[in-house]
Amino acid sequence: MKSYRKELWFNIPRRRAFVNITPRVEECLRESGVREGLVLVNAMHITASVFINDDESGLHGDFEEWLEKLAPEKPYSRYRHNTFEDNADAHLKRSIMGREVVVAVTDGKLDFGPWEQIFYGEFDGRRRKRVLVKIIGE
Ligand code: ZN
Repeated sequence: MKSYRKELWFNIPRRRAFVNITPRVEECLRESGVREGLVLVNAMHITASVFINDDESGLHGDFEEWLEKLAPEKPYSRYRHNTFEDNADAHLKRSIMGREVVVAVTDGKLDFGPWEQIFYGEFDGRRRKRVLVKIIGE
């Protein structure tokens, strides 16, 4: 069995953003040489997510609005976590959007359903953060 590990680095200049990382994961898969197996992609920070959905800007706006309703960024004083930090909303948003995705690898390709793409969801940016890509198979 082959095993491959890589960290993808991000430094998003805004507090929040969604980034399509599918091409970067596909590049990892090519590097790994795995033809049949599994890819795990997870955010290594508790204020960022990795999730799968459609690459459609209207939907991304809808996600942003929906997340702001569930866990508004402000006022910062509404959260007990915000003592020396102001990112309580980012922890909650991360929990809603998820930590990781697992994608099957078939015939050397990510075995997606229709319109599926992998996204990095940043909820407390303006600093360097990482995503782990782990690929196992043969
Ligand atoms: Zn925090």
